[in-house]
Amino acid sequence: MLPGDGRFGSGPSRVRNESVRALVEIADGYLGTSHRRTGVRKIVDRLQKGTAEFFGLPEGWEVVLGNGGATTLWDILALGIIRRRSQHLCFGEFSSKFAKATKAAPHLEEPRVIESPFGSHPLPRADTDVDVYALTQNETSTGVQMTLRRADGVAAKDGLVVVDATSGAGGIPWSVEEVDVYYYSPQKCFGSDGGLWIACCSPDALERVEELRERWRPASLDLRLAIENSRKNQTYNTPALATVYLTLQTVEWMNSNGGLAWAADRCERSAECIYSWAEASDYAQPFVSDPAIRSRTVATIDIAEELPALGISAALRHNGIVDTESYRALGRNQLRIALFPAIPPEDVAALCACVDYVAERL
Ligand SMILES: *Cc1c(COP(=O)(O)O)cnc(C)c1O
Repeated sequence: MLPGDGRFGSGPSRVRNESVRALVEIADGYLGTSHRRTGVRKIVDRLQKGTAEFFGLPEGWEVVLGNGGATTLWDILALGIIRRRSQHLCFGEFSSKFAKATKAAPHLEEPRVIESPFGSHPLPRADTDVDVYALTQNETSTGVQMTLRRADGVAAKDGLVVVDATSGAGGIPWSVEEVDVYYYSPQKCFGSDGGLWIACCSPDALERVEELRERWRPASLDLRLAIENSRKNQTYNTPALATVYLTLQTVEWMNSNGGLAWAADRCERSAECIYSWAEASDYAQPFVSDPAIRSRTVATIDIAEELPALGISAALRHNGIVDTESYRALGRNQLRIALFPAIPPEDVAALCACVDYVAERL
């Protein structure tokens, strides 16, 4: 009754064995070769073009990449894209972290933070005093997703919409008209390893970076340098070549199957499977009460008090099903299960049966 693969973590997450095999196949002409030479630059170029195709990015948008993951990009954005003040929608651990970074930045005004209780999400508010709206498409800590939208009546020139899409990108649709920077790390929906950030930037976002070019910042955190290097299919300093290649594998795999629409539909089916199972269960229920904002890429499932969720996760782990534990800081009796595109809906169904099996016997 076990799923075909036991990896259900929300990041790092399942890396498809096919991707790893493809990496092994090209390893001797790729790994250990210069990232300034055509061999690697061609792979980066394919990754940039494949990403633009996957999201349907219009002419003028650029796919920028650099080292350090989404966490590093928060600091880069605080230095390179926020003029004076940002607005943050905070509804969990990750969305709060970017707000913390801008709050600590001495060159910026106090950010405007809009919070909502865990399990819900706030909406952006038009504010003439902010020039960046920081949204999170999918709050990985709570399993809440939101539709990306500009605040009413706010044009990109006045307030850029900058979205942390780390655990949503690749599994949840979005509209390019509503967003200026869409960024993520590839160890979630893109079934790769960590350490890299990827940012899809609109022409308005690129213009803002130019506008702020005189502001001092360390070169390693300079968005303008990252853009310049990305235009040459490079990163400012050496990237993890395996991470780049594994990300490309997932992008091309998804594109060959039908792109974002296909991937999002696959996640939707996994989500339908786990949430309907939980709703029918007498000991489990979806943590997020509003079905519309239940994440299609990271499911959070509350477990009845008399059954320790950590005990369920431990028993699963003992049988090779790993990383179903809830997000620590949330402190709930809960399972958290990734529904990323690399995880087939059949595996999610098998996992639900395994949880039932364990719960009956605990
Ligand atoms: C995982 C995650 C991050 C952090 O990514 P790193 O690559 O570890 O920096 C940030 N935001 C969200 C929404 C995430 O899920």
